[in-house]
Amino acid sequence: MPDIASITAAITGIRHATEIAKLIREAGPTLADAEHKLKLAELIDSLADAKLAIAELKDDVEKRDAELKRLRDALTTKAKLTHNGVFYFTEGDSTPFCPRCWEMDSRAIHVGPEAWDSKLAYYLRVCPQCKSGYKTRDPNFGSAYSG
Ligand SMILES: [Zn+2]
Repeated sequence: MPDIASITAAITGIRHATEIAKLIREAGPTLADAEHKLKLAELIDSLADAKLAIAELKDDVEKRDAELKRLRDALTTKAKLTHNGVFYFTEGDSTPFCPRCWEMDSRAIHVGPEAWDSKLAYYLRVCPQCKSGYKTRDPNFGSAYSG
């Protein structure tokens, strides 16, 4: 997410660069060659700092846009989901979605196939994202319960 520190850094860098450029312009030929080079180096540094801060802002904005799209998609998905008391389903798709991922993160993540866990002695469906395991009473996961 774009943070105030990145925005402030970009503005500060641009403001500093502008001040240096004005100083160089106003000094004109009276500025000594060494001082002129020093001010140009400061100007380049300020512009580089501002460029870096703006690049970070660009990344932040892209991440925010992606998250916004994901949340919009989640709203669309929410309208299509039904809940059987344990899992979420969508019409035409028999694979359930992880309730933890949906309810906590608004992410519709299919749980893995039901498999017998001989160590735990029950059928289990595991979410590939959050690794939550859901016990099921029998191979028909419609009667599943969380555990
Ligand atoms: Zn999950």
